[in-house]
Amino acid sequence: MKITEADVVGRRIPLADDFPVSYEEHVDTEHLFVRLHTDEGAVGYGEGTSLPWFTGETLPGMVAAAEEWLLPTVVGEQLEDAVADFDERARQFPHNPGAKAAVELALLDLRGKRAGVPVRDLLGPTVRSEIPLVYPIPGVAPDRALELADEGIEAGFDRFKIKATGNVDNDIDRIDAVTGRLPDGATARVDPNTSWENTPKATRILERLANPDQLEYVEQPVSPDRPTDLRALWYDTGIPVFADEFVNGPADVTDLGEDGLAAGCHLKLAKTGSLSRMSAMAETANDYAMAATPVSAFGTSLEATAICHLAATVRKIPLACELDPGLIAADPTTAPLEIRPTISIPEGPGLGIDLAEDLF
Ligand SMILES: [Mg+2]
Repeated sequence: MKITEADVVGRRIPLADDFPVSYEEHVDTEHLFVRLHTDEGAVGYGEGTSLPWFTGETLPGMVAAAEEWLLPTVVGEQLEDAVADFDERARQFPHNPGAKAAVELALLDLRGKRAGVPVRDLLGPTVRSEIPLVYPIPGVAPDRALELADEGIEAGFDRFKIKATGNVDNDIDRIDAVTGRLPDGATARVDPNTSWENTPKATRILERLANPDQLEYVEQPVSPDRPTDLRALWYDTGIPVFADEFVNGPADVTDLGEDGLAAGCHLKLAKTGSLSRMSAMAETANDYAMAATPVSAFGTSLEATAICHLAATVRKIPLACELDPGLIAADPTTAPLEIRPTISIPEGPGLGIDLAEDLF
C-alpha cells in the first residue's frame, strides 16, 4: 500500500460554551487535520490539537510543520517505509506534538485498515469493553457550576471534573457547590492547572473544602517546576495527586514513578505527539503502580476516538477518562461520538471514524 497524496487543513473551532481555565478565558481551539490517500483507495485520517499554554504550539505552526517537515517523509512511500521514516523524522525534529500526532494517527488509521483491525489492536491487548467518562465543569461561577453539575447528574454521570482557576474563594465555592450536590458514591477530580502554586497553599485550600471525601484526586495543583510538591501534598492531605503539565514524554513518567511523586498522570496527544508513545507511557505508569488517565483535550470526535482506542488497552486507569467533543461547537467527523457516562470501545478497522469530505 503506497501513500500517494496528503491533504492538510488547519481549523480554529469555537467552544460550544465558555470554558474558563486558569490560563485564559479560552473561547476557541486549534486543530490540524490530515488525510492520507493510498494507491489501494484506502484513506487515513489524523488530527492534532494545539494546547498553546502547555506546548507553545499554534495553528499556523502545526500546518507548516506537517506540510514542510513531516508529510514529505510519508508521501510517495510504501506504508511500512512511511511509518519508519516518519518515526525517525519525528525523533529528529523536536517539539510540534500536535503536528506529529495528526500524521501518526493517519498512519495508524491506514495500518489498522490494511490489517483489518481496530487501532487499539495495534497498541496492545484490549482490557475493557466500556470506557467510563467524566462530566466536565469549567472554572465558572458557583451557581453556573451547580447548573452544569445538575445536567451531568441528570444525564447519569457519577464522575466529574471541576476546573479551578486560582481565585481561591471562587474555587472553594465552586468545588463545594458541586461536591455538595453529588449523589452517594459519586466523585469529582479537581484540576487547578498549577494555579494553587505550591504545597502549603494547596494544603490550606484543600483543608477548607466542605466535602474532601468526594474528591477522587487533585490534578497538577502546583507549579510544574515543583514536582516533589505533588508527593508532599498527597502525603500531607491523604488526597491522591496526579501530574499533568510536565508529563510530556516517557522520561517524565519514569521520573514520577522512580521517585513515587504522584498517584497517577494525565496523558494527552497534544503533549506527547504520539498515540503509540502514549501507550508506552501508560504501560510505564502502570508498572510503577500509577494510574494513567487518557485525555483528549478539546479534540473533535476523531481525536477522542483515538483516545478511546488507547483507553481500551490501558490496564490501570482512574475512575474515568476525559474526552468530550461536545465542548467544541462544530465536529467535522461524519459520525460524532455520543458522550455518555460510559461508552463502548471503538471498533475499526483503523480508527473507525471519518472526517467529512467538505472539510478539506
Ligand atoms: Mg490538567
